[in-house]
Amino acid sequence: MIQLRNAESRREVHKTDTLYLVIPCYNEEEVLPETARQLLEKMQSLMTAGKITEKSRIVFVNDGSKDRTWELIQKFHAENPIYQGISLSRNRGHQNALLAGLMTVKKHCDMTISLDADLQDDIDAIDQMIAKYEAGNDIVYGVRSARKTDTLFKKCTAEGFYKVMKHMGADLVFNHADYRLMSRRALDGLESFKEVNMFLRGVVPLIGYPSDKVYYARKERLAGTSKYPLKKMLSFAWEGITSLSTKPITLITRLGMLIFLVSIGMLIYSVVRHFMGATTTGWTSLIVSIWAIGGLQLLAIGVIGQYIGKVYLETKERPKYIVETYLSDENENSKEE
Ligand code: UDP
Ligand code: MG
Repeated sequence: MIQLRNAESRREVHKTDTLYLVIPCYNEEEVLPETARQLLEKMQSLMTAGKITEKSRIVFVNDGSKDRTWELIQKFHAENPIYQGISLSRNRGHQNALLAGLMTVKKHCDMTISLDADLQDDIDAIDQMIAKYEAGNDIVYGVRSARKTDTLFKKCTAEGFYKVMKHMGADLVFNHADYRLMSRRALDGLESFKEVNMFLRGVVPLIGYPSDKVYYARKERLAGTSKYPLKKMLSFAWEGITSLSTKPITLITRLGMLIFLVSIGMLIYSVVRHFMGATTTGWTSLIVSIWAIGGLQLLAIGVIGQYIGKVYLETKERPKYIVETYLSDENENSKEE
């Protein structure tokens, strides 16, 4: 279980702080104008209520989109500097785009909230997130209270995923995706995790610090299609399991031991049968066992190979993302000079 420690005043609290919203976007031209409008409204109401400073910003991260996403972001920024844009040099996937956004804006703000571009995450939960932050929490997890909008298939696979992950010993927050508030010091903590295969949902709970949850109902996608087709979802799940747990290796080893014991039993059985004079008719069972053991060995080698592949990638220490452009207030200022 994740330790949701009581908020302590280890951080200066109850002052108005600067919030940066970070939104990864991949081919989101259909939803962006409406998302930008709704987020602006939300930010303005928070500013009026004195919950966040005027320096707060909405940051869109363009994850190598092939449509007009980046053009739109540039247009928003030109119209209103509350919008900022970060463009990655190519598509690096949701997790890396989000991380790029968080790490780029970290030094400008006191807290960030990450959310999806399609507004499936209810933006009214932001108020409660800030309230929990003000109460002294460094991380506030947005947790789905209902999965009504998901298809039965997505519901089952998602629930199965959390169960498998829990069984594998990874401490995920149940039904929490990447809608979360993080304080500056939690982001500093995140930065010290150097792994190349970053699985944020699994790593964030490892940072520690006081944390809490906010429940919200997940909505329908505003427009466009999911950027997570089944193939991407499966590789995401596999990524999660192998990044956080070495349990598959243990399981394979145990299975190997079991099969070895069974084969010793078979050996004794066949020797006894032989001396009792039974004729050899076991060609079929022989072939079957050769295939079974061969298959199992290949599976085991495959799993081990996966981990070795990971070690190989980690040793390269490749960058997780490359920021091509950052449209911020500072750029504006330097342009004016
Ligand atoms: N996304 C991204 N890069 C990708 C795929 C997705 O930045 O390669 C973004 C996408 O624009 C969205 C978020 O990640 O803001 C979640 O994607 P989506 O809504 O398609 O996933 P779903 O809600 O269907 O799981
Ligand atoms: Mg979505």
